[in-house]
Amino acid sequence: MSELLLEANDLAKHYTVSRGLFSPKATVKALNGVSFTLAPKKTLAVVGESGCGKSTLARQLTLIEHPTRGALKISGTDAATADKATLKSLRRQVQMVFQNPFASLNPRKTVETTLAEPLLINTPMTALERRERVAALAAKVGLRPEHLRRYPHMFSGGQRQRIAIARAMILNPGIVVADEPVSALDVSIQAQILNLFMDLQDEFGTGYVFISHNLSVVEHVADEVMVMYLGTAVEIGEKKRLFAAPLHPYTRALMSATPALRKADRRERIVIHGELPSPLNPPSGCSFHKRCPLAIARCSEEVPLLREVAGRRVACHVV
Ligand code: SF4
Repeated sequence: MSELLLEANDLAKHYTVSRGLFSPKATVKALNGVSFTLAPKKTLAVVGESGCGKSTLARQLTLIEHPTRGALKISGTDAATADKATLKSLRRQVQMVFQNPFASLNPRKTVETTLAEPLLINTPMTALERRERVAALAAKVGLRPEHLRRYPHMFSGGQRQRIAIARAMILNPGIVVADEPVSALDVSIQAQILNLFMDLQDEFGTGYVFISHNLSVVEHVADEVMVMYLGTAVEIGEKKRLFAAPLHPYTRALMSATPALRKADRRERIVIHGELPSPLNPPSGCSFHKRCPLAIARCSEEVPLLREVAGRRVACHVV
């Protein structure tokens, strides 16, 4: 049995979209071949602008959608060839925490009902066992016993995210995919929630895929970082190396745009010009070439492939 929680190999998701009555249908390559692994107790942070494929990736990992191409193994089991019962068990192993905890919690259910429901559906636990498990996990995420009888609207944003995290962890999943889990919270609360993620990971050995556009958050939580641009990974490697010396021009620009990181390293601001191109009509060659300050003639003709450079993988012709 594989020791890896996740093995994604050339994972891709393409959508066919209509462009109007008289135009042919088009293909959007929202995710276009990403490969990575995730081990227990590790956090892979996925970084990039909105529209880079992060949320499409989350939908593949949580088995909400089938990939167009590529393979995904969860704890060594290939999701594409799994039968119905195995798929159900794989889905239990990957849980999700969303950006907006208010939208993701049912306003008509108490915290206790919300947390007990997955146990009722998925385990043979007795009512007493469920109550004990809910109380124990609620305490671990910082909720008090009286909170269990309350409804989501009675909590602050930070507390609601604690409830959402408890719900994701209640079945003790191997993997949690967290999609911008602190970006809707006050800055003063963000660190508390990030520390909670870290504490739970230490205790339960959970692997996290942490989607965030905030590099200060990523620096706090990640072991590995995957930088995405227009559906592909442009740089992937150990966080320390990546933050110490980002190599891909896009990674360098992202990092130079974060004031805290810039101050620490005295990095000069690299401004990326132009908008993220439409995935309906991506540029030829390197999809970053129209915005890249280092682009050469080859960049508009040839797609750069990920290759090993200085202990990480980078997709760029000039690095
Ligand atoms: Fe820039 Fe060319 Fe590297 Fe793409 S391949 S990031 S355009 S230098």
